[in-house]
Amino acid sequence: MFSKYKLEQFSPSQSSKGGVIRLTLFFIFIVCITILMLDGWRSWSSREIQLREAEVSTANMARAISQHADDTIKSADIAITGIVERVEHDGLGSASLRRLHDVLVRETKELPQLKGLFVFDSKGNWLVNSLSNAPTNINNADRDYFIFHQHHISNEPYIGIPVRSRSSGVWIITVSRRINNADGSFGGVALATLDVNYFNQFYDKFNIGKKGAIVLVLNQGILLTRRPLLADSIGKSMQGTTVLKASTEKQNGTFVVKSAQDGVVRINGFQRLDKYPLFVSAALAKEEVLEEWLKDVYSHAATVAILILALASFGFYLIKQMKLRLNAEAEILKGQAAMAALNRTLERLSLQDGLTELANRRNFDMTLKEEFARAIRNSSSLALVMIDVDHFKQYNDLYGHAEGDECLKKISAAIQSCPRRAGDLVARFGGEELAVILPVTDLNGGVEVAEKLRLSVQQLGILHAGNESGVVTISAGVEAMIPVKDLNNPIELIEAADKALYKAKHSGRDKVCTITTIV
Ligand code: GH3
Ligand code: MG
Ligand code: MG
Repeated sequence: MFSKYKLEQFSPSQSSKGGVIRLTLFFIFIVCITILMLDGWRSWSSREIQLREAEVSTANMARAISQHADDTIKSADIAITGIVERVEHDGLGSASLRRLHDVLVRETKELPQLKGLFVFDSKGNWLVNSLSNAPTNINNADRDYFIFHQHHISNEPYIGIPVRSRSSGVWIITVSRRINNADGSFGGVALATLDVNYFNQFYDKFNIGKKGAIVLVLNQGILLTRRPLLADSIGKSMQGTTVLKASTEKQNGTFVVKSAQDGVVRINGFQRLDKYPLFVSAALAKEEVLEEWLKDVYSHAATVAILILALASFGFYLIKQMKLRLNAEAEILKGQAAMAALNRTLERLSLQDGLTELANRRNFDMTLKEEFARAIRNSSSLALVMIDVDHFKQYNDLYGHAEGDECLKKISAAIQSCPRRAGDLVARFGGEELAVILPVTDLNGGVEVAEKLRLSVQQLGILHAGNESGVVTISAGVEAMIPVKDLNNPIELIEAADKALYKAKHSGRDKVCTITTIV
Protein backbone atom coordinates (compact mmCIF):
# COMPACT_ATOMS: atom_id res chain seq x y z
CA MET A 1 0.00 0.00 0.00
CA PHE A 2 2.77 2.34 0.96
CA SER A 3 4.73 1.74 -2.26
CA LYS A 4 1.65 2.44 -4.40
CA TYR A 5 1.06 5.66 -2.51
CA LYS A 6 4.66 6.60 -3.13
CA LEU A 7 4.40 5.92 -6.88
CA GLU A 8 1.24 7.97 -7.22
CA GLN A 9 2.87 10.77 -5.28
CA PHE A 10 6.07 11.05 -7.24
CA SER A 11 5.36 9.83 -10.77
CA PRO A 12 3.41 12.13 -13.11
CA SER A 13 0.03 10.95 -14.33
CA GLN A 14 -0.52 9.51 -17.84
CA SER A 15 -2.12 12.71 -19.06
CA SER A 16 0.66 14.91 -17.71
CA LYS A 17 3.21 12.63 -19.40
CA GLY A 18 1.24 12.93 -22.64
CA GLY A 19 1.57 16.67 -22.07
CA VAL A 20 5.34 16.34 -21.63
CA ILE A 21 5.58 14.45 -24.94
CA ARG A 22 3.48 17.11 -26.68
CA LEU A 23 5.63 19.81 -25.10
CA THR A 24 8.82 18.06 -26.25
CA LEU A 25 7.41 17.74 -29.78
CA PHE A 26 6.40 21.39 -29.73
CA PHE A 27 9.83 22.41 -28.43
CA ILE A 28 11.62 20.45 -31.18
CA PHE A 29 9.27 21.93 -33.75
CA ILE A 30 9.92 25.46 -32.47
CA VAL A 31 13.71 24.90 -32.45
CA CYS A 32 13.60 23.56 -36.04
CA ILE A 33 11.43 26.44 -37.23
CA THR A 34 13.68 28.95 -35.46
CA ILE A 35 16.80 27.47 -37.07
CA LEU A 36 15.09 27.54 -40.48
CA MET A 37 13.88 31.10 -40.02
CA LEU A 38 17.24 32.33 -38.75
CA ASP A 39 19.06 30.72 -41.65
CA GLY A 40 16.44 31.98 -44.09
CA TRP A 41 16.75 35.47 -42.69
CA ARG A 42 20.56 35.29 -42.75
CA SER A 43 20.51 34.09 -46.37
CA TRP A 44 18.03 36.76 -47.39
CA SER A 45 19.97 39.58 -45.77
CA SER A 46 23.27 38.38 -47.27
CA ARG A 47 21.49 38.33 -50.68
CA GLU A 48 20.39 41.92 -50.16
CA ILE A 49 23.95 42.86 -49.20
CA GLN A 50 25.31 41.17 -52.33
CA LEU A 51 22.85 43.02 -54.53
CA ARG A 52 23.57 46.34 -52.83
CA GLU A 53 27.30 45.77 -53.21
CA ALA A 54 26.77 44.95 -56.90
CA GLU A 55 24.86 48.22 -57.32
CA VAL A 56 27.71 50.14 -55.70
CA SER A 57 30.20 48.27 -57.82
CA THR A 58 28.39 49.01 -61.12
CA ALA A 59 28.01 52.68 -60.12
CA ASN A 60 31.75 52.86 -59.37
CA MET A 61 32.61 51.16 -62.65
CA ALA A 62 30.37 53.56 -64.54
CA ARG A 63 32.10 56.50 -62.85
CA ALA A 64 35.57 55.17 -63.71
CA ILE A 65 34.60 54.42 -67.32
CA SER A 66 32.98 57.82 -67.79
CA GLN A 67 36.09 59.47 -66.40
CA HIS A 68 38.20 57.46 -68.85
CA ALA A 69 35.96 58.44 -71.79
CA ASP A 70 36.00 62.04 -70.64
CA ASP A 71 39.82 62.12 -70.43
CA THR A 72 40.25 60.35 -73.75
CA ILE A 73 37.89 62.67 -75.63
CA LYS A 74 39.28 65.74 -73.89
CA SER A 75 42.84 64.93 -75.01
CA ALA A 76 41.57 64.55 -78.59
CA ASP A 77 39.57 67.75 -78.26
CA ILE A 78 42.58 69.69 -76.97
CA ALA A 79 44.59 68.46 -79.92
CA ILE A 80 42.02 69.58 -82.51
CA THR A 81 41.41 72.88 -80.68
CA GLY A 82 45.14 73.61 -81.21
CA ILE A 83 44.88 72.58 -84.88
CA VAL A 84 41.86 74.83 -85.45
CA GLU A 85 43.68 77.81 -83.90
CA ARG A 86 46.80 77.10 -85.93
CA VAL A 87 44.88 76.77 -89.23
CA GLU A 88 42.76 79.83 -88.55
CA HIS A 89 45.87 81.80 -87.68
CA ASP A 90 48.46 80.45 -90.16
CA GLY A 91 46.10 79.76 -93.06
CA LEU A 92 46.33 76.78 -95.39
CA GLY A 93 49.44 77.64 -97.41
CA SER A 94 51.67 74.74 -98.39
CA ALA A 95 54.41 75.77 -95.93
CA SER A 96 52.07 75.97 -93.01
CA LEU A 97 50.43 72.67 -94.03
CA ARG A 98 53.84 71.02 -93.98
CA ARG A 99 54.50 72.37 -90.49
CA LEU A 100 51.07 71.31 -89.42
CA HIS A 101 51.68 67.78 -90.68
CA ASP A 102 54.72 67.52 -88.41
CA VAL A 103 52.65 68.75 -85.46
CA LEU A 104 49.89 66.22 -86.18
CA VAL A 105 52.39 63.37 -86.45
CA ARG A 106 54.03 64.38 -83.16
CA GLU A 107 50.77 64.70 -81.26
CA THR A 108 49.45 61.39 -82.53
CA LYS A 109 52.61 59.71 -81.32
CA GLU A 110 52.31 61.29 -77.90
CA LEU A 111 48.70 60.32 -77.41
CA PRO A 112 48.19 56.59 -77.90
CA GLN A 113 44.41 56.99 -77.82
CA LEU A 114 44.58 59.06 -81.01
CA LYS A 115 44.28 57.00 -84.14
CA GLY A 116 44.78 60.01 -86.35
CA LEU A 117 44.40 63.76 -86.74
CA PHE A 118 42.99 65.25 -89.91
CA VAL A 119 42.19 68.59 -91.49
CA PHE A 120 39.64 68.86 -94.30
CA ASP A 121 38.90 71.90 -96.43
CA SER A 122 35.44 73.30 -96.89
CA LYS A 123 34.76 70.72 -99.65
CA GLY A 124 35.73 67.76 -97.54
CA ASN A 125 39.06 67.13 -99.22
CA TRP A 126 41.92 65.85 -97.10
CA LEU A 127 44.38 68.73 -96.59
CA VAL A 128 46.70 67.40 -93.97
CA ASN A 129 46.81 64.47 -91.55
CA SER A 130 48.97 62.57 -89.13
CA LEU A 131 49.34 59.53 -91.36
CA SER A 132 52.62 58.62 -92.95
CA ASN A 133 51.05 57.00 -96.02
CA ALA A 134 47.87 58.92 -96.47
CA PRO A 135 45.62 57.79 -99.31
CA THR A 136 45.09 60.57 -101.81
CA ASN A 137 41.98 61.97 -103.43
CA ILE A 138 39.73 61.03 -100.60
CA ASN A 139 36.77 63.19 -99.76
CA ASN A 140 34.99 63.14 -96.45
CA ALA A 141 32.19 65.54 -97.26
CA ASP A 142 29.69 62.72 -96.73
CA ARG A 143 30.64 62.10 -93.12
CA ASP A 144 28.10 63.18 -90.50
CA TYR A 145 30.57 65.33 -88.59
CA PHE A 146 31.48 67.19 -91.80
CA ILE A 147 27.84 67.82 -92.62
CA PHE A 148 27.23 68.91 -89.03
CA HIS A 149 30.03 71.52 -89.01
CA GLN A 150 29.12 72.68 -92.49
CA HIS A 151 25.70 73.62 -91.19
CA HIS A 152 26.45 74.66 -87.61
CA ILE A 153 28.44 77.75 -86.75
CA SER A 154 28.98 76.39 -83.21
CA ASN A 155 32.59 76.14 -82.14
CA GLU A 156 31.80 73.28 -79.78
CA PRO A 157 33.38 69.88 -80.39
CA TYR A 158 31.23 67.31 -82.14
CA ILE A 159 31.32 63.59 -81.36
CA GLY A 160 30.23 61.75 -84.45
CA ILE A 161 28.64 58.39 -84.95
CA PRO A 162 31.25 55.61 -85.17
CA VAL A 163 32.53 54.89 -88.63
CA ARG A 164 35.03 52.63 -90.32
CA SER A 165 38.18 54.56 -90.99
CA ARG A 166 38.84 55.28 -94.65
CA SER A 167 42.54 55.21 -93.93
CA SER A 168 42.85 52.10 -91.68
CA GLY A 169 39.52 50.31 -91.98
CA VAL A 170 39.11 50.01 -88.19
CA TRP A 171 36.13 51.32 -86.24
CA ILE A 172 36.75 54.81 -85.00
CA ILE A 173 35.03 57.41 -82.91
CA THR A 174 35.37 60.92 -84.24
CA VAL A 175 35.90 64.17 -82.35
CA SER A 176 35.80 67.23 -84.58
CA ARG A 177 35.66 71.02 -84.59
CA ARG A 178 34.72 73.55 -87.27
CA ILE A 179 37.39 75.69 -88.91
CA ASN A 180 36.23 79.15 -89.81
CA ASN A 181 37.59 81.38 -92.54
CA ALA A 182 38.58 84.92 -91.56
CA ASP A 183 35.07 86.09 -92.50
CA GLY A 184 33.48 83.45 -90.30
CA SER A 185 32.37 81.28 -93.19
CA PHE A 186 32.89 77.52 -93.17
CA GLY A 187 36.56 76.80 -93.83
CA GLY A 188 36.82 73.12 -93.10
CA VAL A 189 36.97 70.59 -90.26
CA ALA A 190 39.67 69.48 -87.83
CA LEU A 191 39.18 65.85 -86.85
CA ALA A 192 40.64 63.51 -84.28
CA THR A 193 39.85 59.81 -84.54
CA LEU A 194 39.83 57.50 -81.56
CA ASP A 195 40.23 53.77 -81.99
CA VAL A 196 37.27 51.86 -80.57
CA ASN A 197 39.77 49.23 -79.42
CA TYR A 198 41.39 51.75 -77.13
CA PHE A 199 38.15 51.88 -75.13
CA ASN A 200 37.64 48.14 -75.26
CA GLN A 201 41.14 47.45 -73.96
CA PHE A 202 40.30 49.58 -70.95
CA TYR A 203 36.94 47.88 -70.47
CA ASP A 204 38.65 44.48 -70.54
CA LYS A 205 40.35 45.37 -67.26
CA PHE A 206 37.04 45.18 -65.36
CA ASN A 207 35.73 41.96 -63.94
CA ILE A 208 32.15 41.90 -65.17
CA GLY A 209 31.73 38.13 -65.32
CA LYS A 210 30.53 36.24 -68.38
CA LYS A 211 27.20 37.96 -68.70
CA GLY A 212 28.11 41.50 -67.62
CA ALA A 213 28.23 44.42 -70.09
CA ILE A 214 29.79 47.84 -70.53
CA VAL A 215 28.47 50.35 -73.07
CA LEU A 216 29.60 53.76 -74.27
CA VAL A 217 26.69 55.60 -75.85
CA LEU A 218 26.03 58.91 -77.51
CA ASN A 219 23.29 60.82 -75.74
CA GLN A 220 21.06 60.54 -78.79
CA GLY A 221 21.21 56.73 -78.36
CA ILE A 222 23.94 55.55 -80.76
CA LEU A 223 26.15 52.82 -79.34
CA LEU A 224 29.83 53.78 -79.70
CA THR A 225 31.27 50.58 -78.29
CA ARG A 226 30.40 47.72 -76.04
CA ARG A 227 31.98 44.95 -74.05
CA PRO A 228 31.51 42.24 -75.13
CA LEU A 229 31.67 43.63 -78.64
CA LEU A 230 29.11 41.94 -80.87
CA ALA A 231 29.16 42.09 -84.65
CA ASP A 232 26.34 44.62 -84.81
CA SER A 233 27.19 46.55 -81.63
CA ILE A 234 28.93 49.63 -83.00
CA GLY A 235 26.59 52.27 -84.31
CA LYS A 236 23.52 50.38 -83.12
CA SER A 237 20.55 52.43 -82.00
CA MET A 238 19.61 52.09 -78.33
CA GLN A 239 16.25 53.80 -78.70
CA GLY A 240 13.67 52.44 -76.30
CA THR A 241 16.16 50.91 -73.87
CA THR A 242 15.88 51.49 -70.15
CA VAL A 243 19.45 52.72 -69.89
CA LEU A 244 18.83 55.46 -72.49
CA LYS A 245 15.66 56.51 -70.71
CA ALA A 246 17.39 56.54 -67.31
CA SER A 247 20.38 58.52 -68.56
CA THR A 248 18.16 61.23 -70.04
CA GLU A 249 16.42 61.63 -66.69
CA LYS A 250 19.44 61.62 -64.36
CA GLN A 251 23.16 62.31 -64.37
CA ASN A 252 23.85 58.90 -62.81
CA GLY A 253 22.14 56.06 -61.03
CA THR A 254 21.50 52.33 -60.87
CA PHE A 255 18.63 50.12 -61.95
CA VAL A 256 17.83 46.46 -62.48
CA VAL A 257 16.36 45.38 -65.79
CA LYS A 258 15.79 42.21 -67.77
CA SER A 259 17.43 42.38 -71.16
CA ALA A 260 14.99 42.19 -74.05
CA GLN A 261 17.74 40.62 -76.16
CA ASP A 262 19.11 37.76 -74.05
CA GLY A 263 16.62 37.68 -71.15
CA VAL A 264 19.43 38.18 -68.60
CA VAL A 265 18.53 40.28 -65.56
CA ARG A 266 21.30 42.84 -65.01
CA ILE A 267 22.18 45.35 -62.33
CA ASN A 268 23.11 48.53 -64.23
CA GLY A 269 25.07 51.55 -63.10
CA PHE A 270 25.11 54.50 -65.49
CA GLN A 271 26.94 57.82 -65.57
CA ARG A 272 26.65 60.76 -67.97
CA LEU A 273 29.91 62.49 -68.98
CA ASP A 274 30.24 65.99 -67.59
CA LYS A 275 31.39 67.82 -70.72
CA TYR A 276 30.52 65.60 -73.65
CA PRO A 277 27.15 64.29 -74.87
CA LEU A 278 27.86 60.72 -73.89
CA PHE A 279 26.96 58.32 -71.17
CA VAL A 280 28.33 54.99 -70.05
CA SER A 281 26.76 52.04 -68.35
CA ALA A 282 28.31 49.08 -66.56
CA ALA A 283 26.15 46.07 -65.84
CA LEU A 284 26.57 42.84 -63.88
CA ALA A 285 24.32 39.82 -64.38
CA LYS A 286 22.24 39.33 -61.24
CA GLU A 287 22.60 35.59 -61.63
CA GLU A 288 26.42 35.86 -61.53
CA VAL A 289 26.35 38.36 -58.68
CA LEU A 290 24.34 35.86 -56.65
CA GLU A 291 26.36 32.83 -57.75
CA GLU A 292 28.61 32.70 -54.67
CA TRP A 293 25.68 33.58 -52.46
CA LEU A 294 23.69 30.72 -53.93
CA LYS A 295 26.55 28.27 -53.27
CA ASP A 296 26.66 29.54 -49.70
CA VAL A 297 22.89 29.10 -49.39
CA TYR A 298 23.11 25.52 -50.65
CA SER A 299 25.91 24.60 -48.24
CA HIS A 300 24.04 26.30 -45.38
CA ALA A 301 20.80 24.60 -46.33
CA ALA A 302 22.59 21.24 -46.33
CA THR A 303 24.07 21.95 -42.87
CA VAL A 304 20.72 23.13 -41.55
CA ALA A 305 18.98 20.10 -43.04
CA ILE A 306 21.48 17.78 -41.32
CA LEU A 307 21.07 19.70 -38.07
CA ILE A 308 17.29 19.55 -38.23
CA LEU A 309 17.39 15.89 -39.14
CA ALA A 310 19.69 15.17 -36.19
CA LEU A 311 17.49 17.24 -33.90
CA ALA A 312 14.32 15.57 -35.11
CA SER A 313 15.89 12.10 -34.80
CA PHE A 314 17.07 12.89 -31.30
CA GLY A 315 13.63 14.28 -30.44
CA PHE A 316 11.85 11.22 -31.74
CA TYR A 317 14.30 8.95 -29.92
CA LEU A 318 13.61 10.94 -26.75
CA ILE A 319 9.86 10.65 -27.22
CA LYS A 320 10.17 6.92 -27.92
CA GLN A 321 12.12 6.50 -24.69
CA MET A 322 9.52 8.55 -22.83
CA LYS A 323 6.74 6.39 -24.24
CA LEU A 324 8.60 3.23 -23.27
CA ARG A 325 9.05 4.58 -19.76
CA LEU A 326 5.42 5.62 -19.64
CA ASN A 327 4.32 2.13 -20.65
CA ALA A 328 6.70 0.53 -18.16
CA GLU A 329 5.37 2.74 -15.38
CA ALA A 330 1.79 1.94 -16.38
CA GLU A 331 2.68 -1.75 -16.21
CA ILE A 332 4.26 -1.25 -12.78
CA LEU A 333 1.16 0.60 -11.59
CA LYS A 334 -1.05 -2.16 -12.93
CA GLY A 335 1.15 -4.78 -11.25
CA GLN A 336 1.05 -2.87 -8.00
CA ALA A 337 -2.71 -2.54 -8.13
CA ALA A 338 -2.98 -6.27 -8.75
CA MET A 339 -0.54 -6.90 -5.93
CA ALA A 340 -2.53 -4.68 -3.58
CA ALA A 341 -5.75 -6.50 -4.50
CA LEU A 342 -4.01 -9.81 -3.92
CA ASN A 343 -2.70 -8.54 -0.60
CA ARG A 344 -6.19 -7.52 0.40
CA THR A 345 -7.50 -10.95 -0.58
CA LEU A 346 -4.72 -12.68 1.33
CA GLU A 347 -5.30 -10.41 4.28
CA ARG A 348 -9.01 -11.19 4.18
CA LEU A 349 -8.32 -14.91 3.77
CA SER A 350 -5.84 -14.88 6.61
CA LEU A 351 -8.54 -13.46 8.87
CA GLN A 352 -11.56 -15.28 7.46
CA ASP A 353 -12.81 -18.79 7.92
CA GLY A 354 -13.02 -20.60 4.62
CA LEU A 355 -16.21 -22.54 5.24
CA THR A 356 -18.43 -20.12 7.11
CA GLU A 357 -16.86 -16.87 5.89
CA LEU A 358 -16.93 -15.68 9.49
CA ALA A 359 -13.82 -14.27 11.19
CA ASN A 360 -11.44 -17.15 11.91
CA ARG A 361 -9.85 -18.09 15.16
CA ARG A 362 -6.81 -15.93 14.51
CA ASN A 363 -9.02 -12.92 13.88
CA PHE A 364 -11.02 -13.80 17.01
CA ASP A 365 -7.89 -13.96 19.17
CA MET A 366 -6.55 -10.64 17.82
CA THR A 367 -9.88 -8.86 18.19
CA LEU A 368 -10.50 -10.20 21.66
CA LYS A 369 -7.05 -9.02 22.73
CA GLU A 370 -7.64 -5.54 21.27
CA GLU A 371 -11.13 -5.22 22.71
CA PHE A 372 -9.91 -6.49 26.06
CA ALA A 373 -7.20 -3.81 26.12
CA ARG A 374 -9.72 -1.16 25.06
CA ALA A 375 -12.14 -2.26 27.80
CA ILE A 376 -9.28 -1.95 30.31
CA ARG A 377 -8.46 1.55 29.01
CA ASN A 378 -12.08 2.68 28.96
CA SER A 379 -13.16 0.68 32.03
CA SER A 380 -15.98 -0.60 29.89
CA SER A 381 -17.69 -3.92 29.99
CA LEU A 382 -16.76 -6.58 27.41
CA ALA A 383 -19.14 -9.45 26.77
CA LEU A 384 -18.37 -12.78 25.09
CA VAL A 385 -20.91 -15.32 23.81
CA MET A 386 -19.68 -18.87 23.21
CA ILE A 387 -21.99 -20.93 20.96
CA ASP A 388 -22.03 -24.67 20.29
CA VAL A 389 -24.39 -26.54 17.93
CA ASP A 390 -26.45 -29.09 19.75
CA HIS A 391 -25.92 -32.73 18.87
CA PHE A 392 -24.01 -31.86 15.82
CA LYS A 393 -22.12 -35.09 15.78
CA GLN A 394 -25.45 -36.86 15.36
CA TYR A 395 -26.41 -34.43 12.62
CA ASN A 396 -23.31 -35.46 10.74
CA ASP A 397 -24.09 -39.06 11.39
CA LEU A 398 -27.66 -38.67 10.18
CA TYR A 399 -27.23 -36.43 7.18
CA GLY A 400 -23.59 -36.79 6.27
CA HIS A 401 -20.60 -34.55 6.80
CA ALA A 402 -21.29 -32.46 3.68
CA GLU A 403 -24.77 -31.68 4.86
CA GLY A 404 -23.20 -30.88 8.24
CA ASP A 405 -20.99 -28.29 6.52
CA GLU A 406 -24.01 -26.76 4.79
CA CYS A 407 -25.86 -26.61 8.09
CA LEU A 408 -22.85 -24.90 9.69
CA LYS A 409 -22.83 -22.31 6.91
CA LYS A 410 -26.54 -21.55 7.36
CA ILE A 411 -26.12 -21.18 11.13
CA SER A 412 -23.16 -18.85 10.61
CA ALA A 413 -25.07 -16.73 8.09
CA ALA A 414 -28.06 -16.48 10.44
CA ILE A 415 -25.87 -15.37 13.32
CA GLN A 416 -23.86 -12.98 11.15
CA SER A 417 -27.01 -11.33 9.79
CA CYS A 418 -28.61 -10.83 13.21
CA PRO A 419 -28.83 -7.11 13.95
CA ARG A 420 -25.76 -6.20 15.99
CA ARG A 421 -23.53 -3.24 16.64
CA ALA A 422 -20.81 -2.42 14.18
CA GLY A 423 -17.94 -3.24 16.56
CA ASP A 424 -19.25 -6.73 17.34
CA LEU A 425 -17.38 -9.71 15.90
CA VAL A 426 -18.79 -13.13 15.06
CA ALA A 427 -16.06 -15.77 14.69
CA ARG A 428 -15.71 -19.48 14.21
CA PHE A 429 -13.99 -20.54 17.39
CA GLY A 430 -13.34 -24.07 16.22
CA GLY A 431 -15.34 -27.05 14.87
CA GLU A 432 -19.02 -26.23 15.29
CA GLU A 433 -18.33 -23.71 18.03
CA LEU A 434 -18.83 -20.00 17.32
CA ALA A 435 -18.01 -16.97 19.46
CA VAL A 436 -19.34 -13.43 19.49
CA ILE A 437 -17.32 -10.56 20.96
CA LEU A 438 -19.55 -7.70 22.13
CA PRO A 439 -17.57 -4.59 23.13
CA VAL A 440 -19.13 -2.10 25.60
CA THR A 441 -21.73 -4.70 26.52
CA ASP A 442 -22.58 -5.97 29.99
CA LEU A 443 -23.84 -9.43 30.90
CA ASN A 444 -27.48 -8.44 30.39
CA GLY A 445 -26.76 -7.10 26.96
CA GLY A 446 -24.71 -10.21 26.12
CA VAL A 447 -27.54 -12.53 27.17
CA GLU A 448 -29.99 -10.47 25.17
CA VAL A 449 -27.85 -10.81 22.06
CA ALA A 450 -27.23 -14.52 22.68
CA GLU A 451 -30.94 -15.12 23.05
CA LYS A 452 -31.59 -13.37 19.71
CA LEU A 453 -28.92 -15.56 18.09
CA ARG A 454 -30.33 -18.72 19.56
CA LEU A 455 -33.81 -17.83 18.26
CA SER A 456 -32.53 -16.93 14.84
CA VAL A 457 -30.92 -20.40 14.49
CA GLN A 458 -33.98 -22.12 15.81
CA GLN A 459 -36.12 -20.20 13.35
CA LEU A 460 -34.03 -21.50 10.49
CA GLY A 461 -35.96 -24.72 11.02
CA ILE A 462 -33.21 -27.04 9.75
CA LEU A 463 -34.49 -30.53 10.39
CA HIS A 464 -32.45 -32.50 12.91
CA ALA A 465 -34.03 -35.83 13.83
CA GLY A 466 -31.41 -36.38 16.53
CA ASN A 467 -32.31 -33.22 18.44
CA GLU A 468 -35.13 -32.97 20.97
CA SER A 469 -36.84 -30.08 19.26
CA GLY A 470 -36.56 -31.76 15.81
CA VAL A 471 -34.67 -28.82 14.34
CA VAL A 472 -31.09 -27.63 14.66
CA THR A 473 -30.49 -25.56 17.79
CA ILE A 474 -27.59 -23.97 19.54
CA SER A 475 -26.56 -23.55 23.15
CA ALA A 476 -24.78 -20.42 24.29
CA GLY A 477 -22.76 -19.38 27.31
CA VAL A 478 -22.34 -15.68 28.09
CA GLU A 479 -19.84 -13.86 30.24
CA ALA A 480 -19.06 -10.15 30.62
CA MET A 481 -16.49 -8.26 32.66
CA ILE A 482 -14.94 -4.86 33.14
CA PRO A 483 -11.33 -6.03 32.97
CA VAL A 484 -8.63 -4.56 35.14
CA LYS A 485 -5.11 -4.20 33.96
CA ASP A 486 -2.67 -6.87 35.20
CA LEU A 487 -5.51 -8.57 37.00
CA ASN A 488 -7.64 -10.01 34.22
CA ASN A 489 -6.82 -11.59 30.85
CA PRO A 490 -8.85 -12.66 27.80
CA ILE A 491 -8.55 -16.37 28.62
CA GLU A 492 -10.50 -15.79 31.78
CA LEU A 493 -13.36 -14.40 29.75
CA ILE A 494 -13.24 -17.33 27.31
CA GLU A 495 -13.13 -19.87 30.10
CA ALA A 496 -16.01 -18.24 31.95
CA ALA A 497 -18.15 -18.11 28.77
CA ASP A 498 -17.20 -21.70 28.04
CA LYS A 499 -18.26 -22.73 31.52
CA ALA A 500 -21.61 -21.00 30.94
CA LEU A 501 -21.91 -22.93 27.66
CA TYR A 502 -21.17 -26.15 29.48
CA LYS A 503 -23.92 -25.21 31.89
CA ALA A 504 -26.35 -24.64 29.00
CA LYS A 505 -25.50 -28.05 27.57
CA HIS A 506 -26.05 -29.73 30.84
CA SER A 507 -29.28 -27.98 31.56
CA GLY A 508 -30.98 -29.28 28.45
CA ARG A 509 -29.41 -27.47 25.47
CA ASP A 510 -31.08 -24.85 23.20
CA LYS A 511 -30.42 -22.39 26.02
CA VAL A 512 -28.45 -19.31 26.94
CA CYS A 513 -26.68 -19.57 30.30
CA THR A 514 -24.33 -17.50 32.41
CA ILE A 515 -22.14 -18.44 35.37
CA THR A 516 -22.31 -15.08 36.97
CA THR A 517 -25.71 -14.28 38.30
CA ILE A 518 -27.42 -11.56 36.39
CA VAL A 519 -28.37 -8.68 38.56
P1 GH3 B 1 -23.30 -31.44 22.04
O1 GH3 B 1 -22.42 -30.41 21.58
O2 GH3 B 1 -24.73 -31.13 21.92
O3 GH3 B 1 -22.94 -31.94 23.38
O4 GH3 B 1 -23.19 -32.67 21.08
P2 GH3 B 1 -22.24 -32.75 19.88
O5 GH3 B 1 -22.50 -33.89 19.08
O6 GH3 B 1 -22.33 -31.48 19.09
O7 GH3 B 1 -20.91 -32.86 20.55
P3 GH3 B 1 -19.61 -32.09 20.22
O8 GH3 B 1 -19.85 -30.65 20.27
O9 GH3 B 1 -18.54 -32.59 21.12
O10 GH3 B 1 -19.31 -32.62 18.79
C1 GH3 B 1 -18.78 -31.86 17.80
C2 GH3 B 1 -18.98 -32.49 16.53
O11 GH3 B 1 -19.18 -31.58 15.51
C3 GH3 B 1 -17.80 -33.31 16.13
C4 GH3 B 1 -17.76 -33.25 14.68
O12 GH3 B 1 -18.22 -34.36 14.04
C5 GH3 B 1 -18.70 -32.13 14.36
N1 GH3 B 1 -17.99 -31.13 13.67
C6 GH3 B 1 -17.03 -30.27 14.12
N2 GH3 B 1 -16.60 -29.47 13.13
C7 GH3 B 1 -17.28 -29.80 12.01
C8 GH3 B 1 -17.27 -29.33 10.67
O13 GH3 B 1 -16.54 -28.45 10.28
N3 GH3 B 1 -18.15 -29.94 9.81
C9 GH3 B 1 -18.98 -30.91 10.15
N4 GH3 B 1 -19.80 -31.41 9.25
N5 GH3 B 1 -18.98 -31.36 11.39
C10 GH3 B 1 -18.16 -30.85 12.33
MG1 MG C 1 -18.67 -28.89 20.20
MG1 MG D 1 -22.00 -29.57 19.74
